[in-house]
Amino acid sequence: TVNAGVVAVQGDVSEHAEAIRSAANSHGMDADVTEIRRSGIVPDCDILLMPGGESTSISRLLAREGIDAEIQDHVDAGKPMLATCAGLIVASMDASDDRVETLNVIDATVDRNAFGRQKDSFEAPLDVKGLDEPFPAVFIRAPLIADVGGDAEVLATWDGNPVAVKDGPVVGTSFHPELTSDSRIHDLAFFGTQEATF
Ligand code: GLN
Repeated sequence: TVNAGVVAVQGDVSEHAEAIRSAANSHGMDADVTEIRRSGIVPDCDILLMPGGESTSISRLLAREGIDAEIQDHVDAGKPMLATCAGLIVASMDASDDRVETLNVIDATVDRNAFGRQKDSFEAPLDVKGLDEPFPAVFIRAPLIADVGGDAEVLATWDGNPVAVKDGPVVGTSFHPELTSDSRIHDLAFFGTQEATF
């Protein structure tokens, strides 16, 4: 059984719970999913998911509850995390917005809502490193990944811009893999690229 924690201070939580259950099942495992709204839970999690939503609210609540440092410890210990859209913004080094206190666990800087200014929401078939077939990527007021540092690897680009990155145990996407029934990104983030230890 995989102990999966979904950061649930704000955002699309149940969709991530569904996707991680499905990814675990495809490996003959069960996922025990816990919603994280206070400190003290993250240390018991094998994997973490940080959902889309509103990055200003998520970062404020993580700091207020003291969950921010626990997430950093989780990543420092080499345990996997998937951060999507607002989650990616919060996980990054800099969100180009003072209201977002970033966790600095993905070596990339992002620009909130930059994609959104062009087009509010769209779906596109995306080639992702490690996946055989294109992934149906849903973008909703998505962040633009403006700069990727040396520690991070680009897993996918759209229109010349990175939209999925991996930095050690953390995968970040500017789109929403949890909003499709396709759980291959969750699979890739948690079971695909490293020896699963749970
Ligand atoms: N634009 C939102 C933010 O800046 C993210 C949108 C999303 O997660 N779909 O937090």
